[in-house]
Amino acid sequence: MSLVKNQEIDLTIESFGNSGEGVAHVDGYALFVSGALPGERVHVVVTKVKKNYGYARLLSVLDASPDRVEPLCPVYKRCGGCELQHMSYEAQLRFKTERVYDCLTRIGRLSGNSLPGEIPGESTVRLEVIGCEGEPWHYRNKVQLPVGYDKDGNIVTGFYVARSHEIIPCDECYIQDKKISGVVTEIISILNKYNNGALVYDETEHHGLIRHIYIRHGQQTDQLVVCLVLNVDDTRLIDDCMYEINSLSDVSGVCININNKRTNVITGDKYISVFGDIFIEDKIGDITFRIAPESFYQVNPHMTEKLYGKALEYASLTGNEVVWDLYCGIGTISLFLAKKAKKVVGVEIVDQAIKNAKENAKINSINNAEFICGAAEEIIDSLVNDGLQSSIADVTASTLLVDEDQYEIGRSISDRELPDVVVVDPPRKGCDEKLISAIGKASPARIVYVSCDPATLARDIARLREFGYELKKACVVDQFWQTKHVETCALLSKTSVSAV
Ligand code: SAH
Repeated sequence: MSLVKNQEIDLTIESFGNSGEGVAHVDGYALFVSGALPGERVHVVVTKVKKNYGYARLLSVLDASPDRVEPLCPVYKRCGGCELQHMSYEAQLRFKTERVYDCLTRIGRLSGNSLPGEIPGESTVRLEVIGCEGEPWHYRNKVQLPVGYDKDGNIVTGFYVARSHEIIPCDECYIQDKKISGVVTEIISILNKYNNGALVYDETEHHGLIRHIYIRHGQQTDQLVVCLVLNVDDTRLIDDCMYEINSLSDVSGVCININNKRTNVITGDKYISVFGDIFIEDKIGDITFRIAPESFYQVNPHMTEKLYGKALEYASLTGNEVVWDLYCGIGTISLFLAKKAKKVVGVEIVDQAIKNAKENAKINSINNAEFICGAAEEIIDSLVNDGLQSSIADVTASTLLVDEDQYEIGRSISDRELPDVVVVDPPRKGCDEKLISAIGKASPARIVYVSCDPATLARDIARLREFGYELKKACVVDQFWQTKHVETCALLSKTSVSAV
């Protein structure tokens, strides 16, 4: 049977797709249906037909899965930010576990067919899951919201309709933390007081002023900084607005970011403090972190503590180990592990994040952590290939991004030891191949891989197997309630002599 666009058809959903959508087959041809759940009988209309697969839109659920729940958010379907709101939280965890399992077996080429428990192979791997213990809502400590006009000329903010730049006005986002939502509502009413028709940026004409509102909230310290992203470096039009925003009781600082490019990238390079500090502080466990607006910080700190706890458990530190924390951001994992290690070396590409990491070590009186700014694949490749006899000056020369000012230039790295444990926490694209080879050569006893994309995790595990590493344990730590995003912590260790 060949399907055509706009054809209506009844389907039985068999499994989850990569983004939590339902997958059904018609005579072997795969159809993806957003919002449909495995086990359900649904009525759909075909929207796109490709050679090997197609897409269909859910029209009605004929026979609902027990996992189906009513989404809380009224704009859930149009916004598209929470792909999983129509399933119970247990089903969300099941989807994420299955996704990791699927990637590990299919892309990572680990064998096994039992789910979600063990992956039998050369080693027995158990997939653990740590989910939310309370209500899986109101967690995000950071928002970047577009600002625009509604049809009556009122200033509104909200979320873009999926795959477009039309703003859906939205006062209460159910995954955003409540303090941020309250402040956003107050900011919009202040902006409307000063609304002269030119306050908001128009991306088609590339004129106007305010592009986005960016807010970060330290949930443990209650510090909340508002950043207005502006199209021009001139705040005269909004000086009074910013004064009023700073007077809000929940706001601890106001800053601006200048982004005058025609681009979809939200922020530009330059942040300027207007009132108070542009940094926020927050705590994970008993460690305080100072966080610049441009530095990465996990969005669900409550679950992050559990994630780092798992990384610490997998690292099995006794106090004698040298640990490399690659892609270290503001030093979060490094400092979390430092108390249990002999020494930690963190590597990160964003200069401001490394400055934060060094400050964070000081704030917490941690003296056994060092931080190097640069691309992990370059820094580690130099450290490993130049050998331990090179001086740090050589490393500086070959990796120009090393922070010369703050690093102790001239200090020999001969006193550096190769790592006993390497932690990696890369962006979604995973680790650079050059980095995988350098880690393979450095030959740590254990690798703890913190991943926000199970597909690249599985690919990198397959590459690390070539260096004699085997996956021992893996844990899904659900940081992104209601969304398709999957965070996994995996432990690899050396079981055989490397072929390389
Ligand atoms: N471990 C940290 C940060 C993880 S996010 C935490 O949990 O908070 C990934 C980090 O990798 C970001 O800070 C990003 O700036 C950094 N990064 C991206 N590419 C990099 C590269 N090639 N080398 C080093 N760091 C990189």
